[in-house]
Amino acid sequence: MHLLLVEDEKSLADIIKRGLEEEGYAVDVAYDGEEGLFMAQNEPSDLIILDIMLPLIDGLAILKRIRKKGIRTPVLLLTARGTVADKVTGLDDGADDYLSKPFSFEELLARIRALLRRDADVKTAVIGVEDLTIDMASHQVHRGGREIQLSAREYALLEYMALNKNKALSRTALSEHLYDHDFDLDSNVIDVFINRIRNKVDRGFQKSLIHTLRGTGYMLKE
Ligand code: CA
Repeated sequence: MHLLLVEDEKSLADIIKRGLEEEGYAVDVAYDGEEGLFMAQNEPSDLIILDIMLPLIDGLAILKRIRKKGIRTPVLLLTARGTVADKVTGLDDGADDYLSKPFSFEELLARIRALLRRDADVKTAVIGVEDLTIDMASHQVHRGGREIQLSAREYALLEYMALNKNKALSRTALSEHLYDHDFDLDSNVIDVFINRIRNKVDRGFQKSLIHTLRGTGYMLKE
């Protein structure tokens, strides 16, 4: 999953980015409102974490402008002020959730997971695809009752495919959701990851869940 973080407090932004990357998310950071608005409008992401108090353009103004443009990416607002008026304005202007500073990293993660699930229409933290289960909270993956060990990147790729099960996913889409925009894209990387995941998820099972779509990409299929 690919997140955009708009936060001007550099030390906080860096801590959040590092923590989210450890969880397997790809994270781009904008350090002021102008850069944040530009990236929200021009770079696809799965979720925007948006601070309200920002230099140049504030978070609520960014939110209004991207919603007016029809961008429906889920937005989690960060508010230092924590006033009821801010929260109401934010939610009315199209925010999906908010978090008051200071917050715990665990709560931030739980809210991100909830918003990403909501977008994918998955109600609980456990996604099932046939006898494969993926627990988005613990990152544990089981197939046929057996635990499967995946690296953070492998997990992130499988989770994204599970949230979009039965949909064709191009290599470009997969890498956009897995890497930040600084990553120099080589589409072979996705093939390498898919092969590794296949060896762990499908090998030894009668039914393959990961399908190659010739000329298109991949699909995790029930
Ligand atoms: Ca701020």
